[in-house]
Amino acid sequence: MLFEEFGFDNRILKSMGHLGFDEATEIQARAIPEAMAGRDLLASSKTGSGKTLAYLLPALHRVYKKKALSKRDPRVVVLVPTRELAKQVFGQLRLLLAGSRFTSILIQGGENFNDQHKSLQKDPHFIVATPGRLVDHLKQRHVFLEGLELLILDEADRMLDLGFADAMRAINAAASHRQRQTLFFSATLDNTEVSVIAGELLREPSRVAVGQGFDEHTDISQHVLLCDHLDHKEALLKHLLLGQTIKQAIIFTATKSDTVRLSEIIAGWGLSTQALNGNLSQSARNKTMESFAKGQFDVLVSTDVASRGLDIASVSHVFNFDLPKQAEEFVHRTGRTGRAGFKGDAYSLVGPKDWVNFKAIEAFLQKTFTAESIEGLEPTFKGLLPPKPVRQETKKGNVKMPTKAPKKTNKKPAGKARFHDNQQDGFAAFKLPPKRFATSEVVSDEDE
Ligand code: ADP
Ligand code: MG
Repeated sequence: MLFEEFGFDNRILKSMGHLGFDEATEIQARAIPEAMAGRDLLASSKTGSGKTLAYLLPALHRVYKKKALSKRDPRVVVLVPTRELAKQVFGQLRLLLAGSRFTSILIQGGENFNDQHKSLQKDPHFIVATPGRLVDHLKQRHVFLEGLELLILDEADRMLDLGFADAMRAINAAASHRQRQTLFFSATLDNTEVSVIAGELLREPSRVAVGQGFDEHTDISQHVLLCDHLDHKEALLKHLLLGQTIKQAIIFTATKSDTVRLSEIIAGWGLSTQALNGNLSQSARNKTMESFAKGQFDVLVSTDVASRGLDIASVSHVFNFDLPKQAEEFVHRTGRTGRAGFKGDAYSLVGPKDWVNFKAIEAFLQKTFTAESIEGLEPTFKGLLPPKPVRQETKKGNVKMPTKAPKKTNKKPAGKARFHDNQQDGFAAFKLPPKRFATSEVVSDEDE
């Protein structure tokens, strides 16, 4: 579908012309007409498929064409989980609004609260925000949402993971008039938590899903390497980083301290690198992301603050130095490459401590990975055995015994992993190699 065919305001068509975009991506072709018809929407499609314009363009069209419900209140609020993504979406919105009389502001944690208050007093039409900080301003009565026309939640599932459910509810309650339209976007929306909050925030939503969260992303080549211990992981990473042409790479670690530690090691290999995590000051975070986006250094070592939404075309490689705890994050992390039709490579280093997460990722993706190995760096670790099948209660209450206990084997289990409900218990029986992995710190890296 061509952008001309949506019936967009001319200013939008002009912007698309400047960007050189004629044809809508599939999610845009399907979500934009629904949004323009005023319907609430749950929309999902793979990473890098153009979801941002799928919600920004109908928002712009509405503001350009329709009379505001209120003269003072913001007309559109876009909520996103991280400051980095907020900045990116805000940048895109600003470009689209350039030359128009409509104004937008960015409200996120880590920036000066009073400055934000002053910006809010200018009655902007659009706000791009992280949820916690917007709620702080609502509480202070710096902003009112009675006139809000469109509430957009990008990466809605991640906002829930980060504990923003109450903030989302508070924003919803502040804008709970009948005319409001609400849109949820993400690559992964199929989970119970999302359904619950969607039930509260959306009214009879249309569901637009282009593929499923677990569908294979054909522009991303996935590679899995098994590793014995931390030194082995580092040796593999060194080989992979130095042994191939990498435009830019993002390396994800489990902990904030590991971003710094690993970045220092990588610098020792002669690569230009910086660490990004939620412990850095906001100005340091901004500087790091800006210079990475400009290509001023090659390797960004980050926690999951960079897993969602960031769109940097020259990221050719993603490395999971540690696997994410939540299987969805695997999709989002690796989705930082292979965007907008470009090809990318994603490498996941799987040690004994990653094994449970690895099997959960395979189960989520409904896929079995075949591990690759590098000559001279082959692992002795071949994976952990699945836990012994437990006695299962049948419907009639009889106890069903497993027909055969699984044989001890060094082979990776095929198909879906058989997990107990409590995966930790299931694996506790297996001895881990004595070498310690550096993953003890709190994993979450929250923004407010
Ligand atoms: P998603 O949110 O689905 O991960 P983004 O909205 O970040 O994806 O878009 C990914 C990239 O695709 C961006 O660089 C964006 O400019 C580009 N893009 C978006 N729509 C189009 C289009 N219709 N044609 C070509 N490129 C597009
Ligand atoms: Mg996005």
